[in-house]
Amino acid sequence: MAIHVVRTRAELRAALDAAPRPVGLVPTMGWLHAGHRSLIARARDENATTVVSIFVNPRQFGDPADLERYPRNEARDVAICDEEGADLVFAPTVDEVYPPGFDTTVSVGAVTRPLEGAARPGHFDGVATVVSILFNVVGADRAYFGQKDAQQLLVIRQMARDLAISTEVVAHPTVREPDGLAMSSRNVHLSPEERVAAPVLRRALLAGRAAWESGERSADAVRAAMKAVLASEPLAWADYVSVADTSTLAELETIDGPALLSMAVRFGSTRLIDNEPVP
Ligand code: AMP
Repeated sequence: MAIHVVRTRAELRAALDAAPRPVGLVPTMGWLHAGHRSLIARARDENATTVVSIFVNPRQFGDPADLERYPRNEARDVAICDEEGADLVFAPTVDEVYPPGFDTTVSVGAVTRPLEGAARPGHFDGVATVVSILFNVVGADRAYFGQKDAQQLLVIRQMARDLAISTEVVAHPTVREPDGLAMSSRNVHLSPEERVAAPVLRRALLAGRAAWESGERSADAVRAAMKAVLASEPLAWADYVSVADTSTLAELETIDGPALLSMAVRFGSTRLIDNEPVP
């Protein structure tokens, strides 16, 4: 069956009425890459119907210039969804998601405050709001999210639990380029020199992991190991380098349980994030 693209909530509902369950949802902002492909393929394997949403959500961008330059190519995205066996693409307009008069914000608590939440005020309000809407309009049995955006995953789990949304939130491993760089729609903005520099992010995280594996339990020492690798790359400017509790994302002094090593690093005007859980 050819893939079906729908643009309105009504079309989506009509298409899903007849669709076999369980329904799996993969929310995306488009400009699909191998990371998205892997999420879609997993959803296809685990569900009878797979829906991919493509929506560049203005509410999760603080900076209008960042929203403006976010890459888009719907025809190519739809072809990728088709190749990976999705059944339905939901590609709504901004007005369809936020109709005139829309005036609600879903604001998750403590887990939204550090890291990306501190660096990008309002970002997670935008994420939680749009994902709540998508969960409601799709009524999916499962929704798939990448571990690359580890804090986003925690925020969505908290939101779904607190709002009694029955969609199961499924985490999927980070897909990487051969040199270790996490796939991201934003990688397209890297200059050739920045692209060569960008895998330093992964090397820094692995240095943190290596320190932890060799028995280091001082979070500051692990942060220092990561920062030392970043410092070796002149094009890399760290926004934050974090060693935090895996479930609360509070910064640690001593690593005495599961921890998330994470960082946001700028290469020119492009800001990339990545993370590594330990153990
Ligand atoms: P985005 O289109 O960037 O909003 O991402 C849509 C979904 O794909 C999110 O759940 C991301 O966490 C996930 N994702 C993005 N990049 C990757 C990657 N390299 N590996 C796995 N999942 C990813």
